[in-house]
Amino acid sequence: MRFATKAVHTGQKPDPATGATIPPVSFSTTYTQAAPGEHKGYEYSRTQNPTRENLEAVLAALEGGEACACFASGLAAETAILQTLSPGDGVVAGHDLYGGTVRLLERVYRRWGLEIAYAKSPSAADFEAAARSLARPRLVWVETPSNPLLDLTDIIAVSSVAKAAGARLVVDNTFATPYLQRPIALGADYVLHSTTKYLGGHSDVVGGAVVARTRELLEPVKFLQNAMGAVPGPLDCYLTHRGVKTLAVRMRQHCSNARAVAESLVGHPGLERLLYPGLEDHRSHALASEQMDDFGGMVTLTLRGGFDAADRFCRRLRVFAPAESLGGVESLCCHPVTMTHASIPKEIRESRGITDGLVRLSCGIEDAEDLIADVLAALGG
Ligand code: PLP
Repeated sequence: MRFATKAVHTGQKPDPATGATIPPVSFSTTYTQAAPGEHKGYEYSRTQNPTRENLEAVLAALEGGEACACFASGLAAETAILQTLSPGDGVVAGHDLYGGTVRLLERVYRRWGLEIAYAKSPSAADFEAAARSLARPRLVWVETPSNPLLDLTDIIAVSSVAKAAGARLVVDNTFATPYLQRPIALGADYVLHSTTKYLGGHSDVVGGAVVARTRELLEPVKFLQNAMGAVPGPLDCYLTHRGVKTLAVRMRQHCSNARAVAESLVGHPGLERLLYPGLEDHRSHALASEQMDDFGGMVTLTLRGGFDAADRFCRRLRVFAPAESLGGVESLCCHPVTMTHASIPKEIRESRGITDGLVRLSCGIEDAEDLIADVLAALGG
């Protein structure tokens, strides 16, 4: 089965009891046993839940992994991976990560004894240098394309660095989705998702997932899913799964809208920087053309005039909603400095290019002409 067919059919067997084409949502927290210990593989809903298992099956299939574990949020999924480590173990992290990931590493896991070193750039050589600075590198953590600068990391190259260092490779595939990029085929051990974004796709359900290359790799994560208990509820799993069924058609529209918006802004005098991997002058354009099947739905702008210009731009938008998050059918405009990246200290943020005038557009699936008109009007052009 090809991608779009798997997205619709995996984990969606008709209900054996009634023939219902869409499996009923399994709300029960517990399962009746014929006699103590005699059951059908389900005991208690934190441990096993059929609706969650259906979602896990489709995500594993789309990412090309053997198994998946779903969580109550993307950060809960990250927590489960990090909890597989022990104090003194090292994490090599990418240079431009979601602010909440940096907060988790710096303000939670450093206190619990993990060593963390950041690559200075997305290049594999910088990941290697960061790995060398750690006594016991155990995980390499990559977000590609990155948030909000849309830089790409070469997954094949970094997977060789991870292997040589004796570390596992985690790729946060939230921005690309498996429709555009399949990290396991390129050497990743784990793929991480905030399913809150494109996979759910409708900005109405928070969730996370870890897909592992092998069942054995998922084992410690699966153990923590039950032992720590940050599981998603059945209705959340159902909504996410319903979103996944339309991922292929939505992604095509997200990508073509982002391309149209980016192309309409080339050379605009109100912009200091326009970042979209599909433009030839983007520093990751060549890699994006190889590693991804299209360039994604995100466009990042740095406005001339700093904070005031970004503030004015967000207030003038009529179709894009000024809001955190991304990947929904509706277009959103995030101001990372006051929203997603506010938890990163200003000096660190600015050294990474996340300045007061930067805004990140998540292009939805509306009519491209409306999106272009909205952005141009908000820029005053
Ligand atoms: N990874 C990326 C790339 C994100 O953008 C986010 C959230 O914005 C997360 C992880 C965390 O996911 P969640 O908000 O579902 O906890």
